[in-house]
Amino acid sequence: MKIGVFTSGGDAPGMNAAIRAVVRTAIAGNAEVTGIIGGYSGMIEKKFQPMNLRSVANIIQRGGTILKTGRCMEFLKPEFRKLAAENLRAEGIDALVCIGGDGSFRGAHQLVLEHQIQIVGIPGTIDNDIFGSDNTIGFDTAVNTALDAIDKIRDTAASHDRLFIVEVMGRNSGFIASHVGLAGGAEAVFTPDIPMTVENVLERIKAGVSKGKTSSILITAEGQKPGRAYDLAEQIRKKSNFDAKVCILGHQQRGGSPTANDRILASRLGASAVQALLQKQTDIMLGVRGEDIVSVSLEQATKTEKHTPKQYVDLTHMLAN
Ligand code: ADP
Repeated sequence: MKIGVFTSGGDAPGMNAAIRAVVRTAIAGNAEVTGIIGGYSGMIEKKFQPMNLRSVANIIQRGGTILKTGRCMEFLKPEFRKLAAENLRAEGIDALVCIGGDGSFRGAHQLVLEHQIQIVGIPGTIDNDIFGSDNTIGFDTAVNTALDAIDKIRDTAASHDRLFIVEVMGRNSGFIASHVGLAGGAEAVFTPDIPMTVENVLERIKAGVSKGKTSSILITAEGQKPGRAYDLAEQIRKKSNFDAKVCILGHQQRGGSPTANDRILASRLGASAVQALLQKQTDIMLGVRGEDIVSVSLEQATKTEKHTPKQYVDLTHMLAN
């Protein structure tokens, strides 16, 4: 058996640990492994690289992905998916491990349906927005990176008696925001799927001031409506006499050495994905629930929404008293 492994969509810390686990588990199971460079475009452009035990040496601690990643618009068209499947077959690749987010799984599901390629997915995204797994590879590292920045911002906020709005990543998901808000002791958290108005937050800040608070930190997810951190600061300025400083954390949240949690998750899921392929499973994504490795169909993983944990946001607000 020859297994192809690729990373696709947004990169996430821990993807390398997953690639390492895939390669070493496959070789231990007497399978060959080929790395596909740059996600789906690598299949179309025949960017195939044989992998051995040493190809994945010294990468468990590295952020990013040694296989590169990317977004491939051509793959949305059936004729390019057909070309990708032909190229995989010509290379002798029987099965694939897809490490990516929900977009990548949509592409993978199409490849299974249209060309009967055997595929197991594992969730690699900092956003943690994939149904079927408590956590995705990269999420824990991104939360800790954001938290480190927020702790530093808190020092300056406290010294100058300032109100800060910190925008974290997560696209339309509020997972990073809700976790960072609770762990960072924020005043309020704005996420795309939990209602929180500017009036609400102003009341909270004023109540804090009346209890002797001199500085506050608000967290907003990047996908938040009515807008990102700058819009929020503008509205706060218009509706009160508070001058909010804005800090957008941005792409640093994608990088860095993965945390122990992410390395462990990636190693477990990478190894289990290969075992699932060796057992002839296909069209599934593996994830974790509690301590268990669980599987969902790729279709269900992409079609079901995973909501921001409201209890985290409520607890953040309660403890910010
Ligand atoms: P992520 O996997 O992080 O969610 P994207 O949404 O950008 O990232 O998806 C990664 C890639 O998966 C896209 O660039 C595209 O090549 C492929 N893809 C996404 N959606 C589909 C789809 N509906 N059909 C086929 N391929 C898709």
